[in-house]
Amino acid sequence: MSIQAPFRGARSFRGGTVVVLVGVLVGLGLVVRWPIAGRTTAAGSVSGGGADRSIADRALSVAANPSIVEMLDRVDRERTLDELRRLSGERPLCIGTECRTVPNRVTGGPALAWAEDYITTSMSALGYAVSIHEWTEGRWSDRNVVLRKTGVLSPTEEVYFVAHVDGVSACPAADDNGSGTVAGLEMARVFADATFARTIVFLFTSGEEQGTLGAQAYIQDQTPQALADVYVLLNLDVVGYDSDGNKAMELYHGNHGPSIAMAEVMRAMIPTYELDLKPLINPGCG
Ligand SMILES: [Zn+2]
Repeated sequence: MSIQAPFRGARSFRGGTVVVLVGVLVGLGLVVRWPIAGRTTAAGSVSGGGADRSIADRALSVAANPSIVEMLDRVDRERTLDELRRLSGERPLCIGTECRTVPNRVTGGPALAWAEDYITTSMSALGYAVSIHEWTEGRWSDRNVVLRKTGVLSPTEEVYFVAHVDGVSACPAADDNGSGTVAGLEMARVFADATFARTIVFLFTSGEEQGTLGAQAYIQDQTPQALADVYVLLNLDVVGYDSDGNKAMELYHGNHGPSIAMAEVMRAMIPTYELDLKPLINPGCG
């Protein structure tokens, strides 16, 4: 499933229509157990069990969760836009005191490697367990960066958020897919101090523009059990471009029953959290 939402590229921010919040909202709504009275964590987020209802039932039947609202409030739009500018060459991208310009993020190239190092370093500092998955396919070779936060109640159920970091050559690739990358990174920042029932995984891939090479290699290198542990997966690709300004959030689910249910959950959450978006459920390629 992909998510698309209004979010113009780094070079055309005039409207300021950044709605990265959607990814955060959706992610939180699906993975956070509703707090049980008196058991909310110090981080203001989640703990406690929930009824054994489907995620769709739960999402559709509850009012806005204060913990989620609080997390949404912590999404920093300016920070996210600044990060996007740095990942797409408008400003230098710094790791510690060393700064470089990232004019493109071509798979196998040094600029993408710098971006991946940036993700690794900055997310490690937030406390994520970060691992590097190296892959080679034909003449292409690069890395996937994997962030993991272990769940406290159902750690073997893994909730994946995926974004490809690479772009096409000679292109700053702010929209495709700097937008999904910074959305994932901002989610990771907001999630960093929270406690979740399920394990959270952020998978930042490469080689997507050559045919989802990094993602496919990642899947191939997982054990059958690891794949079975994937509870839900959201792919964030081109989450910002809004050519006609209609604030449509496109949800692609493909011909897959669970993904269709997921899309319905996401649609239901937009009014729950009073987001200024129009959900468009698309049965196209998921
Ligand atoms: Zn893309």
